[in-house]
Amino acid sequence: MTLALEPTTETPVPPVAGAALRVPLVTGGDIGYANLDHAASAPCLDAVRSAVDEFLPWYASVHRGAGFASQVSTKLYERTRDVLRRFVDARGTDTVVFTRNTTDSFNLLAKALPRTTSVVVFDTEHHAALLPWRGPNVRRVRLPRTRLAAVSVVDEALAACPQGPRLVVVAGASNVTGELLPVAEIAAVAREHGARVALDAAQLAPHRRISLRELDVDYVALSGHKLYAPFGAGALIGRSDWLRAADPYLAGGGASKLVTEDAVVWNSGPERHEAGSPNTVGVYALGVACAQLAANWDAVGAHEAELLERLRKGLAGLPGCAELRLFDAPVDRVGTVSFVVDGFDPGWLAAVLSAEYGIGVRDGAFCAHVATRRLIREVGAEGQQAVRVSLGLGSTAEHIDRLLLALRQIIARGA
Ligand code: PLP
Repeated sequence: MTLALEPTTETPVPPVAGAALRVPLVTGGDIGYANLDHAASAPCLDAVRSAVDEFLPWYASVHRGAGFASQVSTKLYERTRDVLRRFVDARGTDTVVFTRNTTDSFNLLAKALPRTTSVVVFDTEHHAALLPWRGPNVRRVRLPRTRLAAVSVVDEALAACPQGPRLVVVAGASNVTGELLPVAEIAAVAREHGARVALDAAQLAPHRRISLRELDVDYVALSGHKLYAPFGAGALIGRSDWLRAADPYLAGGGASKLVTEDAVVWNSGPERHEAGSPNTVGVYALGVACAQLAANWDAVGAHEAELLERLRKGLAGLPGCAELRLFDAPVDRVGTVSFVVDGFDPGWLAAVLSAEYGIGVRDGAFCAHVATRRLIREVGAEGQQAVRVSLGLGSTAEHIDRLLLALRQIIARGA
């Protein structure tokens, strides 16, 4: 095996540009499948697939063996912490805990909070960011329509919190509308109240460079499967003090430093919360994916901006389709849009798009029930569910044109 496996910034990462921007799917683009559901999970980058292929014969348990495979695995696993630290531009003192995904990361953070922490969170957040916080000191606040008002709402909610530790939880980008939230402004207000901020980057990280330092955010949670790596690995990155002081998230081997007949000494580093044999392959894949994205932000941004414009304009001006109601406030957004079509069940619409046109979109309430319901009401429609189209590196103009044509035909012939 070669050192080229190591996901360091020195590792040569082929630029994702031009034709290389087409990310072949396992069952994908080449057989005509239009995956417009990247916000759910993004297919593996080619580079990730090759790296994992190369690693598979060598993976082993980490931290526990003198054997070559174990040493290689340990080295790659630990190096991936640095890759992630760089990926989110973390502070030198921040810790990187590997988790299963964003949901797992927030549940870990919820368990690690000092007992008296007050938590402020918008009611429209994805359930992964909304539900882990429990107790009388959780304040769910309504997300207003403007960015300025959103900052004021957080300001007021924090002012009403009792003395003690405070945490604001906010998504970088909505998984329903793609809207970017004013994270830096919220963080600035949080600081005035001595509060910490946890960023849900599940939807932001695949699309935009993140800097914890510039945003002045304390924690970030992300998922590998949304970042063009396989399922099963994610991370919580941020301030180490609460994590070091908290009980281990899981008790078991790896988290414990010394066990005697009647006592346990727990590790104080990130492994305190990573008991059990970790997902070495998933973590490595996550690191490779992050290194690839980090080396290609300009190309990623240009690709998405062009396609998003085509998609939004196409949906907004679909001829003869006044029934299509797009959740399309004029905001800065990543490549995700949702809509409802009067008289058409979103699940049925999504099934027809898949069966007849080979197009994969998401339907439902997107694990953000409050947000979805509210948006449906705002566009003057009824119901609880919508259709979501989300772009990624595998998306092409042809996918969008096919979707627009399909919607026109389906709506013209009626439900
Ligand atoms: N946060 C947002 C904004 C999401 O879109 C998602 C998943 O769709 C999550 C959190 C949860 O991610 P995971 O299912 O990987 O834990």
